[in-house]
Amino acid sequence: MTRGSSTAKAAGIVTLVVAGLLGSAYVLGRSLVPDQTPRHSTGLNTSADGPHYADQPSVGEPGAVPSASTSSGAGPAEAGQDGSGRDAGGDKLFGAHATTGTPRLALTFDDGPDPRYTPQVLALLRQFDVRATFCVVGENAQNHPDLIQSIVRDGHTLCNHSWHHDVGLGARSADAIRSDLLRTNAAIRAAVPDAPIVWYRQPGGAWTYPVVSVARQLGMTPLHWSVDPSDWDLPGASKITATVLTQAEPGSVVLLHDAGGDRQGTVDALRRILPDLTARFEVEALPTDPT
Ligand SMILES: [Zn+2]
Repeated sequence: MTRGSSTAKAAGIVTLVVAGLLGSAYVLGRSLVPDQTPRHSTGLNTSADGPHYADQPSVGEPGAVPSASTSSGAGPAEAGQDGSGRDAGGDKLFGAHATTGTPRLALTFDDGPDPRYTPQVLALLRQFDVRATFCVVGENAQNHPDLIQSIVRDGHTLCNHSWHHDVGLGARSADAIRSDLLRTNAAIRAAVPDAPIVWYRQPGGAWTYPVVSVARQLGMTPLHWSVDPSDWDLPGASKITATVLTQAEPGSVVLLHDAGGDRQGTVDALRRILPDLTARFEVEALPTDPT
């Protein structure tokens, strides 16, 4: 082996090592920066008025039980897309509640309020004498204070779902997270001044230790889910109905959406779901005084 080829070989090794390091850095960077753009790539119609969001099931199996304690020092959970991360462990919930902790079942409606669908959902819930939980987006609350008032008037529970459905919120500074959550609560309270807001649901289920910590500091309990029919993906009313009725069990927290796209399928499914669900379970709003 000549000195030249030896040098070339060494240079090749160095190149490989550098490439490997760069690759690792890239992967690390990816893991630290949750995808900020899933709502632009869900295939949802974005031509209609209003913002469009979806909560993709990024963490936890259906029926997953939340870990009893919060993890610390871990990086942000991936803001998964199209079900990626579905097999992630409960650790990625950072202690967020995925079940009611009682035999009762909770229906949750995310991303609203939306004048096209929220009134339909409220009417159905009223018809079946069911109370639910609405995880509302701050800017939608600001734009539709009347719907926030209707939600509260009907006895439902409110849940903070961030100002602009920021899936990457958990990767931001604690100060930025705090200001986003407070701004959202302020918009809700502009509509209903004394509204209890004791739940927070991270968009996309992209929980991180900082976002869980800040929510708790602000008196809100992190709320995940255990039954997800992926209604944001528009599977149709029949599929949404079948998934919910098949997977529902005592303690389930069911994830549905009353905004963020065409939600008529969800409304139609709800009409079919409610008779069955109310016959099998106590369906209740999450408490406004969680301990
Ligand atoms: Zn959402």
